[in-house]
Amino acid sequence: VKFVYDFTEGNKDLKDLLGGKGANLAEMTNLGLPVPPGFTITTEACKVYLESGEEPAALRDEVSAHLAALEEKMGKRLGQADDPLLVSVRSGAKFSMPGMMDTVLNIGLSDKSVQGLAKQAGDDRFAWDSYRRLIQMFGKTVLGVDGELFEDALEAAKAAKKVTVDTELEAADLKKLVTKFKKIVKTEAGRDFPQDPREQMDLAIKAVFDSWNGDRAKLYRRQERIPHDLGTAVNVCSMVFGNLGPDSGTGVAFTRDPASGHQGVYGDYLQNAQGEDVVAGIRNTVPLAELEQIDKKSYDQLMQIMETLENHYKDLCDIEFTIERGRLWMLQTRVGKRTAGAAFRIATQLVDQGLIDEAEALTRVNGAQLAQLMFPRFDESAKVEQVGRGIAASPGAAVGKAVFDSYTAVKWSRSGEKVILIRRETNPDDLDGMIAAEGILTSRGGKTSHAAVVARGMGKTCVCGAEELEVDTKRRRMTVPGGHVVEEGDLISIDGSTGKVYLGEVPVVPSPVVEYFEGRMHPGADDADELVEAVHRMMAFADRKRRLRVRANADNAEDALRARRFGAQGIGLCRTEHMFLGDRRELVERLILADTEAEREESLKALLPLQKKDFVELFEAMDGLPVTIRLLDPPLHEFLPDITELSVRVALAESRQEPHENDLRLLQAVHRLHEQNPMLGLRGVRLGLVIPGLFTMQVRAIAEAAAARRAAKGDPRAEIMIPLVGTVQELEIVREEADKVIAEVQEATGTELKLAIGTMIELPRAALTAGQIAEAAQFFSFGTNDLTQTVWGFSRDDVEASFFTAYLEKGIFGVSPFETIDKDGVGSLVKLAAEAGRETRPDLKLGVCGEHGGDPESVHFFHEVGLDYVSCSPFRIPVARLEAGRAAV
Ligand code: ADP
Ligand code: MG
Ligand code: MG
Repeated sequence: VKFVYDFTEGNKDLKDLLGGKGANLAEMTNLGLPVPPGFTITTEACKVYLESGEEPAALRDEVSAHLAALEEKMGKRLGQADDPLLVSVRSGAKFSMPGMMDTVLNIGLSDKSVQGLAKQAGDDRFAWDSYRRLIQMFGKTVLGVDGELFEDALEAAKAAKKVTVDTELEAADLKKLVTKFKKIVKTEAGRDFPQDPREQMDLAIKAVFDSWNGDRAKLYRRQERIPHDLGTAVNVCSMVFGNLGPDSGTGVAFTRDPASGHQGVYGDYLQNAQGEDVVAGIRNTVPLAELEQIDKKSYDQLMQIMETLENHYKDLCDIEFTIERGRLWMLQTRVGKRTAGAAFRIATQLVDQGLIDEAEALTRVNGAQLAQLMFPRFDESAKVEQVGRGIAASPGAAVGKAVFDSYTAVKWSRSGEKVILIRRETNPDDLDGMIAAEGILTSRGGKTSHAAVVARGMGKTCVCGAEELEVDTKRRRMTVPGGHVVEEGDLISIDGSTGKVYLGEVPVVPSPVVEYFEGRMHPGADDADELVEAVHRMMAFADRKRRLRVRANADNAEDALRARRFGAQGIGLCRTEHMFLGDRRELVERLILADTEAEREESLKALLPLQKKDFVELFEAMDGLPVTIRLLDPPLHEFLPDITELSVRVALAESRQEPHENDLRLLQAVHRLHEQNPMLGLRGVRLGLVIPGLFTMQVRAIAEAAAARRAAKGDPRAEIMIPLVGTVQELEIVREEADKVIAEVQEATGTELKLAIGTMIELPRAALTAGQIAEAAQFFSFGTNDLTQTVWGFSRDDVEASFFTAYLEKGIFGVSPFETIDKDGVGSLVKLAAEAGRETRPDLKLGVCGEHGGDPESVHFFHEVGLDYVSCSPFRIPVARLEAGRAAV
């Protein structure tokens, strides 16, 4: 195998092998853009190293060969005393990952070559500045020295000189600083800073490999569901210098606004600076547009290149560049992160520009982003106390208690508190705090700062660079203009869409996207903004493309109407148990307690008209669309009083010698019905089989309701669903009774009802005998919640809190199987049952009800196994529609 690729050898599609950065550096090189020459060490080499603990034998030779070629091309050797070639060693995995070692710049400098560099550049200050940067970065990232020690020393040097910015330090100061830095390395790392350039490079490469398994990198991968075995590539890139004086500098840019998608000039530039200076907020950057005044030639060239990149990648790109004495160099590009709203807008903009088609547009957005756009926003008409404004870095409305460090953020959020993490600026150490927080607020840094980039990636609300807020992390407080102090634990609200910061808890209102789905805002109307327009169009793309239908889980007319507005094509699950609560509970209690046939009949008779009315309303709301009604499912005790409470009541009454006959009877019934494992007890179809008249009453209510709707010229499409069937015999018995009742109602009303009868597949036995069950069922609806419980032997109510965290941490599963369907286990049963069912009955209708119906990844799975529809809660319907469209691309 080949472990090293020259930049001229790779391309953008080799991200698995070369990492994102390496693949795109190669792509730009081959586009003829000005990229400093270099080479990439593959992720394969990293994997071998991580598995064996040693670099592959061939790697050293390959690196030597590529280095030699690079030296040849540049006309100087790495670290050459009189004219050193310098390189950067840069990490770059397939997915960009905060928490990994970033980059060491200026490798090749030593006590000797620093002199050579100074002479070549004719600039002592520059050479010593570069050297101190090398020792600082190398010390921190390769040798593991605490970075603050270097920063403190730098601060001290500035203070001693009474200057505020690093550019005011002169060569002599920097030279002293180098001595100081070297001492820090020696004391902290227990070794001298390596003077041999090749040793510097090799150690840095190894450090990049090792950083793949750093704690923060692992945490990030878990959070973002990135596999742990990809490994990282390493880029070795010849240095260009932005710190060579005022005609040099470094910057970052976007080809369009990552927040709105608008085309224009977006980015930051910093004169006389190197590397991370721009994002680290060391000095104040200027907006990219000002580069036009500073260096028109480079600016024009940059604009040209950005256009080339957009047309080539057909997407928003972000870039890093450096200008060395008036010469522009491209150091990085990638398809840029963006806010959820911008993703929708950019996708439609690119369609309009003719760069991509509708299908491609669907791949540029996802359901999670849409869900994010449906979050509520702050109520602008509310009385608020705004105390500051920063940069709107990542949208959303977040309210929480102020915390000033990650540890507290994690601790408080674990105990159920909502927190806002406030920092002067964030760094990779803050990652777990950022994950725990509702939102992130910083007082420094711009749109490209660490906080902003990471928050956008996580879809977390973030306001950054709110400069008038004085953040004091040591004393855990923040002073706002006017002197008010926000202490740890005080409530604050931040708006990531406007950048505004408020004291206290600001009330929230629905998002415009929800207003649109609700029909209260119309695309094309004056009040509709671009976002609504874009969402509207993307939903149309998805609806045109998708094969899966989307239904709602809804139990009442109100939910059904909302679901319809959100695009539901029917109800996939109406739970009738909700119709048995409230005032009706007493009737149900009587039914359960009935000693005689007459008593039972009486309570059923009382329930019938109530049920019928529920269904009439539901059919009316869903007129013309299918409504699947599940007959009563939960264990009966859920309708009876709590056993302990009741016992106490009876005991009290007894001791006071008060009458308590009813309670006593109730208590006996509760005892009789008490189950150790109610989930596996008397519920579902079993209720229908042992409580005479219960299911037939429900079927009668459905049939009569349907007949009533027909009489009113409606178009009711009821589907009767029997839950928790394990064997076809259960279904046959219930069916026979149901058919009889339906025939009676048809006879009595003179209407033909065409009611479908089907079953849920939610027990492994049902799935395994689906071929038989389909003989008696006109449709299957996979109840993947119960199916997951019964396949895994998990009680969802018990295990999520007890051992799921441990399972997730140990990587036994990447995500809870209740959230995303377990394809290998539960999923293969679904697939098997679907196939067997269709074998028996080719027109068998197949759907899924259960949380998975609204989960993006699961929707793709259901599409693949050929189900007809998914059903989910009304609010998830747009997400399911979009994902069903994406699945069909
Ligand atoms: P990250 O992944 O954190 O962006 P990079 O590898 O891109 O890390 O490097 C960090 C910074 O150093 C960037 O601003 C980049 O432009 C700069 N840089 C990297 N390599 C070079 C180089 N060869 N010459 C000049 N600047 C460089
Ligand atoms: Mg970085
Ligand atoms: Mg970079």
